Amino acid sequence: MTDRNLIEKAKQAVNNAYAPYSRFPIGAALECDDGSVFTGSKIENAALECTLCAERSALAAAVSAGHRSFKRIAIYAESGSYCFPCGTCRQVLWEFSPNIEVLCARVDGRYVSYPLTTLLPEPFSSQSMD
Ligand code: ZN
Repeated sequence: MTDRNLIEKAKQAVNNAYAPYSRFPIGAALECDDGSVFTGSKIENAALECTLCAERSALAAAVSAGHRSFKRIAIYAESGSYCFPCGTCRQVLWEFSPNIEVLCARVDGRYVSYPLTTLLPEPFSSQSMD
């Protein structure tokens, strides 16, 4: 699957986002090591801290289906700016795949790509508790 194919799946996932409060829907597409792809959509809540980001929504679907290792995640928002994962999503992605590639796409079709290790250079990990 190309980067563009993965981004297109993230773009389609925006349509299922539930974002009545921010009116800023986001979609994500997570590619597993075996090539399968799970999408996720932002799910907001009136109690704003209960909101689930699209990235963690996709991860929850993939992990619930038994996957534990991931190659890439594409994140798409109908925005002129790149939408990077929040700190919580960076940490949760790192738990499973520290070397995952993060693609952030914007409405004009351009995208940037970073290894998660660049976006989260010093994660909290199981070694942190040694
Ligand atoms: Zn997030």
